[in-house]
Amino acid sequence: HLSLRLQTVADFVQPGARLADIGSDHAYLPVHLAKQGLLTKAVAGEVVRGPYENAVSEIEKEGLENVIMAHLADGLAAIKPEDQIDTITIAGMGGTLITQILDAGVDRLRHEERLILQPNVGEDNVRQWLQNHDYGIIAERILAEDGHIYEIIVADPVDTPTTFNPTQLKFGPFLLQEKSPVLQDKWRKEQARLDDVIATMQHAQQAPQAKIDAFIAQRNQIQEVIL
Ligand code: SAM
Repeated sequence: HLSLRLQTVADFVQPGARLADIGSDHAYLPVHLAKQGLLTKAVAGEVVRGPYENAVSEIEKEGLENVIMAHLADGLAAIKPEDQIDTITIAGMGGTLITQILDAGVDRLRHEERLILQPNVGEDNVRQWLQNHDYGIIAERILAEDGHIYEIIVADPVDTPTTFNPTQLKFGPFLLQEKSPVLQDKWRKEQARLDDVIATMQHAQQAPQAKIDAFIAQRNQIQEVIL
């Protein structure tokens, strides 16, 4: 069975989808969905040979070669027009890397694909990218598993996306409305980290005051918005 993190990503893949899972590693996500008969077709893309071979053997082990194609390719280069991909998942990497993959492959997007993105950090970069490229966020999830907190951002193509303010981009428009205990936990930890940074800088008496003030502002924003 899948981790809660990947299962939550999988929950947003619509039945019958034509899925591209980019950075698929063992291809656990498409294999799990295909075993349940939920995919018409899938591509498992990997840029590194080891993980690509993991994907190939997992697909063969489950006898799913006719549904899932593993491709050794950089980012969205794994997607061919004839695949008619309608859903793209990119999970388990930093938000900056996710936006780099989307930027590098923007020509491959038909602006018809649902994007289900699970950045490990840098979620604000992902939300900003979506807004800049006419993708509307339709759902967000936050969850804790094995001592980590993960966010999942789901977006569909739109003509004119809602413009989010910097606070919404940072914390997540849906997550802010919900303000779950997991969200509070995540930002309480970030606040504690900032407090350490501020204390260290003040103690060292070398950092410019403007820099310290910027960290204090971040710390206070978390207090005001989340806690
Ligand atoms: N998606 C799986 C998950 O969430 O469990 C695997 C995550 S794994 C930590 C990240 C994978 O992304 C690695 O296997 C890495 O090789 C792959 N990756 C990184 N950059 C990539 C790129 N530009 N194109 C395709 N795969 C990439």
